Amino acid sequence: MDEFAISIDIDWAPDFAIEEAAKILTDHQVKCTWFITHNSPAVKKLSQNSLFELGIHPNFFLFSSQGNNEDEIIKFCFDIVPGAKCVRTHALFQSSRLLKKLREDYGLLTDSSVYLPYASNIQPHIVNYSHNSKPLTRIPYFWEDDLECYTAGKTWEFDNKKFFAEGLKIFNFHPTYIYLNIDEMHGYEKLKVEKCSKKPLYQVEKEEMAEYKNTGKGAGTLFQKVVEYIHNYQNGSQTLSEIREKYISSLEK
Ligand SMILES: [Zn+2]
Repeated sequence: MDEFAISIDIDWAPDFAIEEAAKILTDHQVKCTWFITHNSPAVKKLSQNSLFELGIHPNFFLFSSQGNNEDEIIKFCFDIVPGAKCVRTHALFQSSRLLKKLREDYGLLTDSSVYLPYASNIQPHIVNYSHNSKPLTRIPYFWEDDLECYTAGKTWEFDNKKFFAEGLKIFNFHPTYIYLNIDEMHGYEKLKVEKCSKKPLYQVEKEEMAEYKNTGKGAGTLFQKVVEYIHNYQNGSQTLSEIREKYISSLEK
């Protein structure tokens, strides 16, 4: 399982940013697991694209726009993605009790709320949270766009050695950061202050966001490179549920 894969947390991104990321993936026929926070026409389109798996991205923090308690929040997400099998919690909020609920009460099979930056030999693993024989497969991810901004020795050059560790390497992006092509978080923070005081991020217009774009190398140029690499050099691509299925069947051999 020495492969690259892509996931995207949509994190209330505007539709034009979701569509831009989806187009790059579709143009290169590269699969992706999208973790969904809210509904929109672009999210509906993602659900109709056979390259894409949709998982849920619940926000369990206080004042969540998705609901007032764990069950309301999870049900809100399932209303948008009925039959979701995969979850990553917003900001990696988690506890064993919550993971047990997600698996046993809501049937989610895969969780990807573990970030192991640049770690070698990442592979899925299985956790049982009770005697109910409903194991949760957990698949840690290897890299994330906003967290790269804070990393000492950050780089947007995909040929860098640190990106080629042994094992599974899930690269996690956000459509807004791809669109802004961030190389540090100040532009995004400024955008939030200047444009999101009266409306949510997903209502920001394309023209309003344009002035915050980084024109050098950043998350957007790296996204393009990772997608091209998977398309050109890897034998196919996989969603997180497909990675889980492959792992489960390898255990049965
Ligand atoms: Zn998030």
